[in-house]
Amino acid sequence: IPLQDVRNFCFIAHVDHGKSSLSSRLLEITGNNGRENQKIALENTLAVERERGITVKASAASMLYPHPSAVGPDGVILLNCVDTPGHSDFSSEVARSLSFVQGAVLLLDAAQGIQAQTWTVYEKAKSMTNPPEVILALTKIDLDVADPINVALTVSEWLSVEDPESIIPTSARSRIGIVPLLDKICRMVPPPSRLPDDKFIEDNDNNQHLRAQVVDSWYDERGVNCLVQIAAGTIAEGDRIAIVTGTKSTTTSSSVQSFSVQEVGIVLPHSVRTGKLRRGQMGYVRFGLKDPSQVDTGTILIFHKDVGKDLYIPSINQSIINDNSADSTKSVLFASVHPLAEDGFEDLCDAVDRLGLNDKGLEISRTSDGGGNNSESGGPFLGPGLRIGFQGLLHVEVFRQRLTDEFGIDAVVTPPKVPYHVTFQPSKANNLTDPIKRVVEDLEDWPGFGEKFRVEEPMVEVRLMSPVQYAGAVMELITKKRGIDLTTKPIDENIWMFQAQMPWAEVVLNFHDMLKTITGGYGSLGTFEADPPLREARLSKVEILLNGDEVGPLSFVCHTPNAQSDARIVCKKLKDVLPRQQFVIVIQAKADGKVIASERIQAYRKDVLNKSGKMVGGGDISRKKKLLEKQKKGKKRSQQSGKVTLSQAAFNSVISR
Ligand code: GDP
Ligand code: MG
Repeated sequence: IPLQDVRNFCFIAHVDHGKSSLSSRLLEITGNNGRENQKIALENTLAVERERGITVKASAASMLYPHPSAVGPDGVILLNCVDTPGHSDFSSEVARSLSFVQGAVLLLDAAQGIQAQTWTVYEKAKSMTNPPEVILALTKIDLDVADPINVALTVSEWLSVEDPESIIPTSARSRIGIVPLLDKICRMVPPPSRLPDDKFIEDNDNNQHLRAQVVDSWYDERGVNCLVQIAAGTIAEGDRIAIVTGTKSTTTSSSVQSFSVQEVGIVLPHSVRTGKLRRGQMGYVRFGLKDPSQVDTGTILIFHKDVGKDLYIPSINQSIINDNSADSTKSVLFASVHPLAEDGFEDLCDAVDRLGLNDKGLEISRTSDGGGNNSESGGPFLGPGLRIGFQGLLHVEVFRQRLTDEFGIDAVVTPPKVPYHVTFQPSKANNLTDPIKRVVEDLEDWPGFGEKFRVEEPMVEVRLMSPVQYAGAVMELITKKRGIDLTTKPIDENIWMFQAQMPWAEVVLNFHDMLKTITGGYGSLGTFEADPPLREARLSKVEILLNGDEVGPLSFVCHTPNAQSDARIVCKKLKDVLPRQQFVIVIQAKADGKVIASERIQAYRKDVLNKSGKMVGGGDISRKKKLLEKQKKGKKRSQQSGKVTLSQAAFNSVISR
């Protein structure tokens, strides 16, 4: 297939607007899906995705489609389709996908119209260095409540589409509009461009210099798999290749490791071994790579014999770097992750490394021995853990579930915190002579009682969409959560958009759930870079004590005027989730040296050994026991009865205050 007959495109949309369903229909119609009773949806191959019905990973599939625009002798177009997640926590996946494609199909639910993430993904597409051709389509027009004409009119007004009739109405359920959509993709999406040094002759591509870009990579029992897009040349089993990470392959060949290509195939979306991939194609490659960290998105594979030659190395990272949306790859939340199994730290490190290969939104910076700055002691309650940066709360939950599903590791994640910029002022308490500024991600570094400090917190711009009848409640929520510079705009006669600058810390708590609750499920939220990104605020650290011992991972930072009410809520919730013991548990919350809230959990039986009710040292650590060996992963571990168990529920009581 000549390069001119290749179309790389992706679906982008607000969550639940039908990307996964529509991409499955495309596969079906091009004959890749549903054949031989193989009912495979294109996406959502991870257990967590199926369970939650969301897409967290972009994934790709190739299909052949006969079309008059084809110039090759076969008359078919090779379509490489990338499905992307819709939730804002996974928007770094979206940015990454957009940098590999020349076309983006923006889907809009014909009943809901423009939603918050519609803006996010649309603006992301438009802000790319080489923006893809955007094609618009309406989905779910089979729904009774669908209003395709009005939605098309509103969309064309807000997303500057000249002709509303150019928006393709589709329904994955009723199989409407699939062929017109494929036709438009074939006609409108430009083929991938040639590399500047590409002297391609259609039938003689064997001696071309291979350039394969790694789009994604994942780990399975056979090792590291790479999803690649062939930018030039051909890759075949048996080829000897090398990994290039810089922009020029100018090092000498003797110093560069050579790999033998073991298996090559395409993704339909199940893997089909083809032995060869040609320019323009997307597919998977395995070459015996043991160390997952050697490949990353944007890594280039070339022939080993070409190492040192002055080859043109395409750079996709550029567009990711240039992508300026707030949540693209910067971590917005930090938390520490602790294995429940007593000796599970090594396994956790290993699993996190592998997950990190597949989840580029995770920020893992840690020394190779698993120790160093990033391993965190959970004190007597949690044992060692890892500090990890996340993209949002859903990302944290998905991460935790993937650890269990894919690696058999049960872990607790401490309440995530945003990074605070703290300026410590000279004071008696800290012996400073000059103010110093530090980024505090771990509340152990928060200024102590009596220290003078100023604190700036990270801000985010939110855009909320909601039916107009909930406008009052939405504005109240935004104000309550310390939103400022609030503006409103009617999108059409039913829907309003609300724009405000808000503290990240408030948005990452249960803001999204609250928005859904007050808008009967219709409100949606998108986040963008705030201006300015930091804002000074009056914030206090609230410490949680159990029987007089501070439990570091449970402490939190909140707006000073809310400290007491937040502390009361957390203490109450902890009372509900902590299991009763043979001794009384006193739960206290302390801020600025004062106890501001407390609760008591009565003992269920008098215990002679523990009269004092004081929990002491490492002997009282309670954890789940690792009952099964690693190979039996996935099986449920039973929980050993302990003294005070800090379950995920205990940590969640801090998050959902
Ligand atoms: P994604 O989040 O954009 O990938 O959306 P999904 O493809 O997972 O679809 C979200 C929901 O909309 C699912 O419950 C689908 O069953 C439903 N859905 C998708 N396409 C259609 C359609 O054409 N008609 C109707 N009625 N429902 C649809
Ligand atoms: Mg999906």
